[in-house]
Amino acid sequence: METVLPEDVLHRFLLESAGVRGVLVRLGPAWREVAGRAAYPEAVRDLLGQALAASALLTGNIKLEGSLSIELKSAGALRLLFAECTDQGRLRGLARWHDPLPEPLAVAELPQSVMAITIGHAERGQRYQGLVDLHYPSVGEALENYFQQSEQLPAKILLAADGERAVGLMVQRLPGEGGHDASTDEDGWNRIEHLTATLGVDEMLGTSPEQLLYRLYHEESIRLFEPRPLAFGCSCTRERVESMLRSLGREEVEAALEAREGEIEVICEFCAQRYIFDRIDAEHLLSASHNAAASTTAQ
Ligand SMILES: [Zn+2]
Repeated sequence: METVLPEDVLHRFLLESAGVRGVLVRLGPAWREVAGRAAYPEAVRDLLGQALAASALLTGNIKLEGSLSIELKSAGALRLLFAECTDQGRLRGLARWHDPLPEPLAVAELPQSVMAITIGHAERGQRYQGLVDLHYPSVGEALENYFQQSEQLPAKILLAADGERAVGLMVQRLPGEGGHDASTDEDGWNRIEHLTATLGVDEMLGTSPEQLLYRLYHEESIRLFEPRPLAFGCSCTRERVESMLRSLGREEVEAALEAREGEIEVICEFCAQRYIFDRIDAEHLLSASHNAAASTTAQ
């Protein structure tokens, strides 16, 4: 009989005497929803799963308003990888690739690859963006380095994914007061880092969060916070699609109407929601843009 594991959940924990805080994310159904949107080759799928788990993981210790996204672009076979987690715990993601894929598929080897972490409200223009140095063997290690650089605190990040689950674990030394280590336990961080590094991919994917934390840190004083639920969710709306069409301009919209017998169909790549616009809708949204432009000039 298969045991049902608690999934789509984010756990925050504190290893008090060691002076270390941590986040553990385990995705099941939410990840399968994302993974099932395209016929992803295994290597692409697993990287996408890792990025999705990481996007949730990185929200664990920050005060998030809006969303946190991880985006990788390259001129190579993996053109785009995008994963996002909102302040409501809604996750979405996608990847674009072309064959042949290099084996193994390592982000550091992709030509002209750039990875950015964006935090905040894109639409309100309130956002912070940081670039991740990708010269590391894994996405986890690249993010680890990013954290070390940006927060000046040592961190350890492990990510794992297969077709069923995506799991991420992050431990981070607590910021000390006045530049000193917060804990009196001199060896705390080294011990936790070593314990965490012993975790294998299969163990990560096959163990429930509570069991995993117990197995790793049962000799430490561990404090678990209330788990946060996560779920698949897309932020697309008809209004957003309208403003995208508006930004294309009249000529392009009319050409699209012409090509598809008077109907524009837009399908969201994240959630497969269909949006249909006929000539009347198109005229309406284009004239709305005209009015908006007119009122801006009038000011
Ligand atoms: Zn959508």
